[in-house]
Amino acid sequence: DTIGANLDRAVAAFPERDALVDVESGRRWTYAEFAVAVDEVARGLLGYGVGKGDRVGIWAVNCPEWVLIQYATARIGAVMVNINPAYRVHELEYVLKQAGVSVLVASTAYKASDYRGMVAEVRGGCPALHEVVFIGDPSWERLVAAGAEVPGDAVRARAAELSCDDPVNIQYTSGTTGFPKGATLSHHNILNNGYFVGETIAYDESDRICIPVPFYHCFGMVMGNLAATSHGACMVIPAPAFDPVATLRAVEQERCTSLYGVPTMFIAELGLPDFASYDLGSLRTGIMAGSPCPVEVMKRVVAEMHMSEVSICYGMTETSPVSTQTRIEDDLEHRTSTVGRVLPHIEVKVTDPATGVTVPRGTSGELCTRGYSVMLGYWDQPERTREVIDAGRWMHTGDLAVMRDDGYLEIVGRIKDMIIRGGENVYPREIEEFLYGHPKIADVQVVGVPDAKYGEEILACVILREGADGLTLDEVADFCRGRLAHYKVPRLLEVVDSFPMTVSGKVRKVELRERFGGAG
Ligand code: ATP
Ligand code: MG
Repeated sequence: DTIGANLDRAVAAFPERDALVDVESGRRWTYAEFAVAVDEVARGLLGYGVGKGDRVGIWAVNCPEWVLIQYATARIGAVMVNINPAYRVHELEYVLKQAGVSVLVASTAYKASDYRGMVAEVRGGCPALHEVVFIGDPSWERLVAAGAEVPGDAVRARAAELSCDDPVNIQYTSGTTGFPKGATLSHHNILNNGYFVGETIAYDESDRICIPVPFYHCFGMVMGNLAATSHGACMVIPAPAFDPVATLRAVEQERCTSLYGVPTMFIAELGLPDFASYDLGSLRTGIMAGSPCPVEVMKRVVAEMHMSEVSICYGMTETSPVSTQTRIEDDLEHRTSTVGRVLPHIEVKVTDPATGVTVPRGTSGELCTRGYSVMLGYWDQPERTREVIDAGRWMHTGDLAVMRDDGYLEIVGRIKDMIIRGGENVYPREIEEFLYGHPKIADVQVVGVPDAKYGEEILACVILREGADGLTLDEVADFCRGRLAHYKVPRLLEVVDSFPMTVSGKVRKVELRERFGGAG
């Protein structure tokens, strides 16, 4: 199915159910109303001359129009290009040019940044860009008005020309390890993935999903929006960008059954001084993904947020994104030590990165995945595509994993983050989990920095708990003594206020390494 045909099914089955709610503005759409609104935007885009395969950029924080553009572009066979709302002039220009965007839909402004000014600055350098539409501005009305000139059946006529293998989306990776790459994904790729993710946590039309994660990233637009519409569930937008208070309020007010987030978002919500005053009793499930979840956080999410069916997903933008997921009946151990079992119709193998040979269960190696979920390729970068997808169509993830005997997968870390100290392989994640138990440490990131003697040395970057009055390297070493192998004990310590983050909520270790790399 195409995404448009799949939406038609939900509209026919659940016309009166809520499809989309924007809590901040109070606007809401039933499935029947949502279909009409999507159609209006789709006709507008046809009115602006958007042809099959043409790229339409969306550069905006979370808002209903983002979702309308997502489904409208899919309906008419355009390729939506997700642009990171944190981008500034230089990156914006890169993406617009690299993807050849012809119509750009953007927020007007967010916080201190002036999107209009930035668009004006880059426009001259992007000859392909012929229409710019700002959300909440007369230019949005003009887009809709352009659709009035288009014959009523034009959207249907276009839909009939589409195949589910057509590209529908260029999604950029988080840029955790370097400059983001644009993954080209088809209807088949992402619609199936959203569907199976929703199946795994038993979504149906009674579910209401609170989505505080950015739509620009696959977590929001696939695991959120596509999982919702493929089950007739409702998408709830708590705020334009992540805000813990707005998120919990939205859950309470909209009686959400599911809540999404990366672990740092759940940490922020649990840490609110008035956390106990929110009624979160409607929650049943949710998804945590993107980075590993500390055990203590998972325990509180289950007990205090009522999310006894919360699920952990593992995946990457290039694989639509999810490859493995925990099941709702899984216990705490599986939810914190593993990223679940492989989803239907996806294969995984763990190989020795040097030889490519599959390693035995219980042994760590590079995770490779194969199936419907593997992207068409990086947009206009065949060489880079060949570096990650081999002739057998296996995607080389760059992640280190262990396949356990019980069929559950553990993510040990990224190959790029692994520290090699004096010939010993050290996995930062293991040390981070351990240091989490220190009473003065609120959050911790472990990275390798260059060292003349050992090749790399272990640096712990620490955010202190409120009220903690400093932390010394000796205290850290004492805490580790006798409980961690000596070569894993951090030899360097930096106390920081915050970590450099991607918009999808991941810590950019590459920046920590650059910032403190000279410290050894
Ligand atoms: P870039 O590729 O630009 O450096 P990125 O890899 O962070 O950034 P994404 O595609 O958003 O971009 O993220 C995929 C990566 O996130 C995976 O390769 C993996 O390293 C990590 N990841 C995803 N889910 C989990 C999880 N549940 N536990 C641990 N790590 C995870
Ligand atoms: Mg990646």
